[in-house]
Amino acid sequence: MDFRAEHIPTVDESGPDLAGPDLQPDEGVQHCLRVLSEAGLRPTRQRLALGQLLFLRGHRHVTAEGLHAEAIAANAYLSLATVYNTLNQFTEAGLLRRIAADGIKSFFDTDTSVHPHFYMEGEDMLVDVADGLTFTRIPEALPGHEIARLDVIVHLRRKHAS
Ligand SMILES: [Zn+2]
Repeated sequence: MDFRAEHIPTVDESGPDLAGPDLQPDEGVQHCLRVLSEAGLRPTRQRLALGQLLFLRGHRHVTAEGLHAEAIAANAYLSLATVYNTLNQFTEAGLLRRIAADGIKSFFDTDTSVHPHFYMEGEDMLVDVADGLTFTRIPEALPGHEIARLDVIVHLRRKHAS
């Protein structure tokens, strides 16, 4: 798990303009097209625009609101509802994992493996727990059930300066 991936600057912050009709398929677009087609999703303009923000920048944790702001900054004018819908489609297709960190707030993780997270309360940030988490005992599942997965979110808050 690469904890530092969150902080790696992107190659081209401006990003290609997907709103234009004469899209030049560069390497990033090609990669996105592959990701979408392997997931069985049609490469619509919205999916390509958001796919480039999600799948070309290493391991990421995003919220719909945060991704919407990034899309606008990259000149991909999508509504927040479209961003929500696309994130849900990506999640259903297995490209993202949804993590409910704080009540109604959902994060979408480009690493779909099961792994523990830190959630920074008040800062709206979710990052991977790099290591140091072990369990000595996991409870038995209830009769007729098996454990599907174990989601762990360690909530952090800023220490008060004393
Ligand atoms: Zn994660």
